[in-house]
Amino acid sequence: MISFTLACDCGHEFESWFSSSAAFEQQTKRRLVTCPMCGSAKVGKTVMAPAVARTDNRTRKGAAETPPPAGPVPQPAQPHAVLGEPERQLRDMIRALRKHVAENADYVGRKFPEEARQMHHGEIEHRSIWGEASAEEAKALAEEGVEVHPLPLLPDERN
Ligand SMILES: [Zn+2]
Repeated sequence: MISFTLACDCGHEFESWFSSSAAFEQQTKRRLVTCPMCGSAKVGKTVMAPAVARTDNRTRKGAAETPPPAGPVPQPAQPHAVLGEPERQLRDMIRALRKHVAENADYVGRKFPEEARQMHHGEIEHRSIWGEASAEEAKALAEEGVEVHPLPLLPDERN
């Protein structure tokens, strides 16, 4: 087995395993190798394969010392992840938790810190609520012993 670092035409980099260098050539030629992030079949190696004889004019003296960067021009980096099964399950659980909270808890918006505090002191009946609190408000609640939980954001829900 041999591993290659590959890049698609959008600049995503990923690692792939092949039984041999020839198998890699064959599979990319038949467009069987696709980018796991965007599905593009236009993939190539990001590093030069060592000691592969070429018949083009790269045999010129000095050319081999400074090989041009192979592959596409990289795009500005964005966070990406290839998720294994446990992470996928976790993502689905977070999604389910957020959905459950939205459907079953009372949305109290910016009154959240106040409501949470009143419930903690028994001034109003205990129920499930959710809403917004600043980092300082959440910290203050925690210091008073009010149990509040931040709802995790999924990366694609940011902005
Ligand atoms: Zn891609």
